Amino acid sequence: MNRLQNSSEIRNTWTREEAEALYNLPFNDLLFKAHCVHREHFDPNEVQQSQLLSIKTGGCPEDCSYCSQSARNNADLPASKLLEVQTVLAEAKKARDGGATRYCMGAAWRSPKDRDMRAIEMMVEGVKELGMESCMTLGMLTPEQILRLKDAGLDYYNHNIDTSERYYSEVISTRKFSDRLETLNLVKESGIKVCSGGIVGMGEENMDRLDMLVSLATLEQHPDSVPINMLIPIEGTPLQDAKPVEPIEFVRLIAVARIMMPKSHVRLSAGRTEMSIETQAMCFFAGANSVFKGETLLTADNPEESKDAHLFKRLGIRPMALKSCTKEAETC
Ligand code: SF4
Repeated sequence: MNRLQNSSEIRNTWTREEAEALYNLPFNDLLFKAHCVHREHFDPNEVQQSQLLSIKTGGCPEDCSYCSQSARNNADLPASKLLEVQTVLAEAKKARDGGATRYCMGAAWRSPKDRDMRAIEMMVEGVKELGMESCMTLGMLTPEQILRLKDAGLDYYNHNIDTSERYYSEVISTRKFSDRLETLNLVKESGIKVCSGGIVGMGEENMDRLDMLVSLATLEQHPDSVPINMLIPIEGTPLQDAKPVEPIEFVRLIAVARIMMPKSHVRLSAGRTEMSIETQAMCFFAGANSVFKGETLLTADNPEESKDAHLFKRLGIRPMALKSCTKEAETC
């Protein structure tokens, strides 16, 4: 039993072989081990809730095969301009009043233009004034842009690595895996917290999913948040016919993520609408402790709030308070 429990070392030397060995444990052993790690660092009955708003939708020059917002795909999503600051802040206030503690704002850009940076800064400042954590996802950033975001008070920057380095070019051709790592490194250096994860169900093999986790777990510092998305195939995108991931495989992946990155918030992101409540419950047991709330993500559906409230009630899960710390840092 101790062999299974003793696993909560924080390290960034993980290998694919170790990830595979974890993934291939008998299901109950894997879940037990992941749950022990989870309990060591977090209250197992608390889930952090973020809310996401698309502040600039569609017309993106990148060619991510899964995305309805790429101008190169045929997903029939009209491009919009950057939303007005006041519109974004009014939505953020609604999200805060509904219980979200972090407001995530996403723009469909390869990278922001300097002319948009003042509005972005004002959005970050406004969200902070509402007493929420702020998160932005804007694509690749220059060191100067990162500095401006840091000075505006940005808490988190989301920049997903999407998949393994090996499979990356099958999904995206307009940028490289190494570009993502470079931005992540600059963000980390600035002191802004990193949110980075990926998507499963894009036709990749299991080793790609594990390699993705190994890439995240071998960053100099583990990301603070690790969103694991289950692809929602969108008509008009190259991945419209992608096969879904088996729920048990997905739960195993969540458990491996929890064990390899013990102090990170592992987030169930896109794809929750397609998951049964039993699958979600197993994910929470395996160490997932963050979700997006609200009825839409950037452009995809998310479970209705009443369904989430019902699910949380049935599972005895409480929303994580804003200042909730990991157990090891309870004095902060
Ligand atoms: S995922 Fe982001 S970068 Fe890729 S096409 Fe969509 S909006 Fe653009």
